Amino acid sequence: PSGRPNTVRLVFLGAAGVGKSALIRRFLHDRFEHKYTRTVEELHVLECDMTGSGKMRLEILDTTGSYSFPAMRELCIRHSDAFALVYAVDDPGSLDEVKRLRREILELRVGKKAPITVVGCKSDLSEAEGRVLRTADVMATVEGEWDADFVEASARTGGNTVGVFSSLLQQMQVPRRLS
Ligand code: GDP
Repeated sequence: PSGRPNTVRLVFLGAAGVGKSALIRRFLHDRFEHKYTRTVEELHVLECDMTGSGKMRLEILDTTGSYSFPAMRELCIRHSDAFALVYAVDDPGSLDEVKRLRREILELRVGKKAPITVVGCKSDLSEAEGRVLRTADVMATVEGEWDADFVEASARTGGNTVGVFSSLLQQMQVPRRLS
């Protein structure tokens, strides 16, 4: 055994402004900032033990919503192990984008695994504050029709942000390290 931990690459895809960077930041640093910083592309690398079965090298790729170069998006889809498709509960257009991304992933990954977790971000928002997408409706589509995992999370409150990552890793059933 090499003693090197398994490497797992998770990619966060979704429309601009849905909270991808905020979710990742909350997970990594337990922080939330209101200021909006436009992400081009950021790769976070850490070693951790998320499953209790030894250390792994976790790569978290944060992509921009205007991932406008199809060739780059394609490359990133081919070279990732699991996908967080993020929409915001106050933005129906962002759920349409998730649908498009899911189709693209399935097309590019024929014959390969494509663990997908659909993430409804900004779950702290009430209807009075702008929520338009209801949990039960989206859950029915995602779990019932797409056979993907579904979680709602809030980077603002920190609610269930860990759930996003455990869902992805659970679906991949990260193997035990041989050492
Ligand atoms: P990205 O473009 O998908 O990476 O989105 P950002 O993480 O940059 O977030 C976009 C905006 O949404 C920022 O102004 C955040 O403060 C806000 N935001 C992100 N997550 C949440 C959340 O969970 N709840 C609320 N209410 N706002 C959020």
